[in-house]
Amino acid sequence: MSQETATMPHTSSAFVQDFMGYLEDRAPGQPEFHQAVQEVVASLEVVLEAHPEYRKHRILERIVEPERVVQFRIAWMDDEGDIQVNRGYRVQFNSAIGPYKGGLRFHNSVNLSVLKFLGFEQIFKNSLTGLPIGGGKGGSDFSTSGRSDNEVMRFCQSFMTELQRHIGPDTDVPAGDIGVGGREIGYMFGQYRRVTNSFTGTLTGRAPDWGGSLLRPEATGYGCVYFAAEMLQAQGRTLEGMDCLVSGSGNVAQYTTEKLNELGAKVVTLSDSSGWIHDPEGVDNEKLAFVMDLKNVRRGRISEYAERYASATFHPVDDGADGNPLWSVPADAAFPSATQNEIHGIDARHLVENNVQVVAEGANMPTTADGQAIFLEHGVLYGPAKAANAGGVAVSALEMSQASQRLRWTREEVDQKLRSVMSGIHTACVHAATKYGHEGNYIDGSNIAGFTKVADAMIDQGLL
Ligand code: NDP
Repeated sequence: MSQETATMPHTSSAFVQDFMGYLEDRAPGQPEFHQAVQEVVASLEVVLEAHPEYRKHRILERIVEPERVVQFRIAWMDDEGDIQVNRGYRVQFNSAIGPYKGGLRFHNSVNLSVLKFLGFEQIFKNSLTGLPIGGGKGGSDFSTSGRSDNEVMRFCQSFMTELQRHIGPDTDVPAGDIGVGGREIGYMFGQYRRVTNSFTGTLTGRAPDWGGSLLRPEATGYGCVYFAAEMLQAQGRTLEGMDCLVSGSGNVAQYTTEKLNELGAKVVTLSDSSGWIHDPEGVDNEKLAFVMDLKNVRRGRISEYAERYASATFHPVDDGADGNPLWSVPADAAFPSATQNEIHGIDARHLVENNVQVVAEGANMPTTADGQAIFLEHGVLYGPAKAANAGGVAVSALEMSQASQRLRWTREEVDQKLRSVMSGIHTACVHAATKYGHEGNYIDGSNIAGFTKVADAMIDQGLL
């Protein structure tokens, strides 16, 4: 899957071009961050025209500047006794409406541009949930792939020994992301507890036996499917009977598949960084259990799926000029759930040619600007990441509430709250888009609805 950055839309206004020139001067060499900002700024032009106070208070210039960026060295010893050196980060982007909240990503592609794009997106996503959480993101260029449990533990401990001084239950509450699941959260929480001598809700995504919320692992995938269902329901349709393309095979892909199966849809693809599988008979729950064991316990490759199930074929990564062939498989719905910029213009075109009805983003910024333009132009119901995948952080915020009250809600209670948050986000997007004359455009709806609350809070709290 290509990490190449999206080309920017060709028809951006003078206002957007001016602002992007300003940003590129201030933050050169950060293409993923520029891409994320450009999408938001393009949506906000109309809002700034209607609200001159946002210009007067220079909210845009302030909101693209992180409140704080921490970068640090992580030295640790591998199983051979050799010293390894990685780089750690925490981008504390905006805390106007609550403590910084956002995941930690461990992957060799992590750099400041990637974390600033993720942290920037997180501001608006967290605002959309209606819960009191600010935006942040962090991680390291360390990859867990090929590392033993002991190596992962030593790395996590070294990482947390430094990070702990910058976070806290009312300051900054990290969670998981790519490469950071239950195992890594466990090792980091253990070290946090040891070093600070306190048991607090500072990390979310913990196991239920030591303070985690039920349904947190499921929340992003389930929430993404709920959001797709909301978009379809608004047009009198459902997911039942739809063929679905899912990319990735990690946390988000797994629970997206589980919920799609429950709602009577059929998932016909999954992927990882080595390739993708096509199973025209569908990834049913028995096959999904195999994938969960393969990826979460044995930490194997998705190619093993095709060795196990005769109905499936495996295709190694091939991002040629004709795009990623996963997106050329005919289907009614697509749930990109791996990483950023995995649907380029050519891929979006293939999806549209095959008459895709709905695209809901489990991954962050998986569609390039060209791809987004094609979906909008062809009337595809397109749920952008900051709306569609907000269920994960929403249940993280519910985990924070349960931790501070020392109580535990049932799975049903959390699921009911998750559904209500996703439905609330859908309504907020529709209202904001309609109010500013962009009915049906969930990109503008999510950017505008997410922005106004944070902007108003920044004005209320004075010049910071
Ligand atoms: P996981 O680490 O559990 O899974 C990631 C999956 O994507 C794996 O299958 C991985 O393949 C694949 N992948 C990762 N990077 C690449 C790459 N550069 N090229 C190709 N494939 C890649 O992560 P999550 O499922 O948690 O996260 C997936 C996406 O969802 C990310 O964009 C994340 O930011 C977003 N997200 C996650 C949330 C959460 O709650 N976990 C919340 C909101 C958004 P391999 O196994 O080979 O590494």
